[in-house]
Amino acid sequence: MKHTYAVIGLGVFGSTIALELSRLGNEVIGIDLNPGLVSEIADRITQAVIADARDEKVLRDLGVHDCDGVVVAIGEDIEANILATLIVKAMPKPKVWAKALNPNHHRILEKLGTDHIVHPEHEMGLRLARGMVYPEVMDYISLGHDQFTVEVRASERLAGQNMDALHLPENDLQCLLVKHLNEVMVPPPPRYEFKLNDKILLLGTLGNLRKITKYL
Ligand code: ADP
Repeated sequence: MKHTYAVIGLGVFGSTIALELSRLGNEVIGIDLNPGLVSEIADRITQAVIADARDEKVLRDLGVHDCDGVVVAIGEDIEANILATLIVKAMPKPKVWAKALNPNHHRILEKLGTDHIVHPEHEMGLRLARGMVYPEVMDYISLGHDQFTVEVRASERLAGQNMDALHLPENDLQCLLVKHLNEVMVPPPPRYEFKLNDKILLLGTLGNLRKITKYL
């Protein structure tokens, strides 16, 4: 379904979000004080505007209050980030995502009722470090409470083996899905033999997932 989003701050982070939201078929209003950044993105999103997001009237005139979601992607200027978040949080309709720069900023955004607080550098840093330590892990989602789903690729070591061969405690680690070439098996048949380069989606605790990585 098509939604309407506003992205405030069109630096590297904000413009990446705006372009991807647009590519995924949504209406996107991009707002920034910097005319150069606005003109750079203007013909690739629905509307790009040079404006100060600290001004509530300007945001209302642009229809930000009618958007489904607003991303406050202002970086360095914490005061502007907080003010913009305060203004859009007072609008009942949009869900608000805001970039936090440090733990105190996070606390303020939380107090304002920000729906999603993101720490892009921190989150990317975690992802990068984990990818360095576990190169076989292609992607993962943290589900909270130490539970993760991870996507791994079957190496030569794993090819020809099945889940039983990995001696995993029942239920502690589950194989949710295997994709072999174009065929997706949800779940894979019992005792399915992994083939080289199969994509495997596993669910388990970090401890159990760590144990399996030495077999991958
Ligand atoms: P990034 O790391 O994503 O590049 P920046 O801090 O460089 O982050 O970018 C934030 C953007 O937010 C800048 O382009 C800046 O012009 C914009 N910005 C800062 N203050 C305001 C404001 N009051 N209203 C609109 N845009 C703003």
